[in-house]
Amino acid sequence: MSIQDLGWDAYFEALWHESESEGGVPARVVSQQRGLWRVAGDFEECWAEPSGKFRKDSEGGGDWPAVGDWVSVEFQAGQANALIQRILPRRSRFVRKVAGKQIAEQVIVANIDVALVVAALDGDFNVRRIERYLAQCWESGARPAIVLNKADVCEESAELAAEIEGIAMGAPVLLVSAKTGEGLDALEASFQRGQTIVLLGSSGVGKSTLVNRLLDEERQPTHAVRESDSRGRHTTTSRELFVLPSGAMIIDTPGLRELQLWNAAEGLTQTFADVDELAAQCRFSDCQHAKEPGCAVQGALTSGTLGADRLESWRKLRREQEFLLRKTNPETGAAQKKRIKILMRQVRQKYQDRDKGKN
Ligand code: GDP
Ligand code: ZN
Repeated sequence: MSIQDLGWDAYFEALWHESESEGGVPARVVSQQRGLWRVAGDFEECWAEPSGKFRKDSEGGGDWPAVGDWVSVEFQAGQANALIQRILPRRSRFVRKVAGKQIAEQVIVANIDVALVVAALDGDFNVRRIERYLAQCWESGARPAIVLNKADVCEESAELAAEIEGIAMGAPVLLVSAKTGEGLDALEASFQRGQTIVLLGSSGVGKSTLVNRLLDEERQPTHAVRESDSRGRHTTTSRELFVLPSGAMIIDTPGLRELQLWNAAEGLTQTFADVDELAAQCRFSDCQHAKEPGCAVQGALTSGTLGADRLESWRKLRREQEFLLRKTNPETGAAQKKRIKILMRQVRQKYQDRDKGKN
């Protein structure tokens, strides 16, 4: 496989020349496992590990490579694994919060061109959830397309598709059935050679069925590679980046399934551009859009141009956003803690007073 087949283009070529890669060649990360990265490029696909310098930088807070990343690798005589020297700046990235006290972000996949937001047209259909995924896409730098799956079990699929088009902010909406194959030709025709695609969406919407359908084979049994790595460990790898017959690539990695809303501020403004525009027209700049006079949001609600549930999900995303901001900003976090401490003291005092009153 050549780097062009893997999505290398003029953009990455320019980035490559921007900085020196002594003795390195470009490679794309196609899967990741236990401190090793599987890389492909103009060479035989192999495992790679971070160079000493790279490791030091990463342990000091720099990013580790993610599936989809373009990296510079170096081959050294007598060494089984290639050495990763650096990551090329990412064109897009999906991140998630890392669990634990400290909220840090972790890149799950990089350099995605198109994110397919998959939803199922059965009982579980939820417009608000699609909005959340769209917000994540805008934030990531990838272009979203909405795939409405299970069209075979839905009688009102055209109406639902029209409803989704209303909130899609220009993202294409495709009706498909991974089961019958309906709409899959149109979906595939929208892919371009060298493009990298991911599928997002809740469990059960049909992402695996769709991927298998697009790959035209049952992937897991045929693609699992069992081998020993340089340290003699047995590893069973299933690839996470696949090339489709169209020449586009699909990345399917477990981490994507746990993707959470992370700092989607930028994405939010695009998904809810209509609500933001209304809010900007309110008479008061600090309008809470409740009962204030001259509130354009309430006006639109009354006239029916804005749906109450859309406003509610705008509010909900805003709240989550503020919550994340508080958590990631240690200063406000400390102030918050102090306030809660004072509050708790007041509550305790109240209970003590009440108990005293009882006796
Ligand atoms: P994932 O969790 O998103 O990967 O979803 P799966 O691919 O595992 O699919 C969940 C279930 O939905 C499975 O039972 C599939 O057979 C079923 N399914 C997937 N696509 C379709 C479809 O287009 N129509 C119908 N009726 N069922 C589907
Ligand atoms: Zn208002």
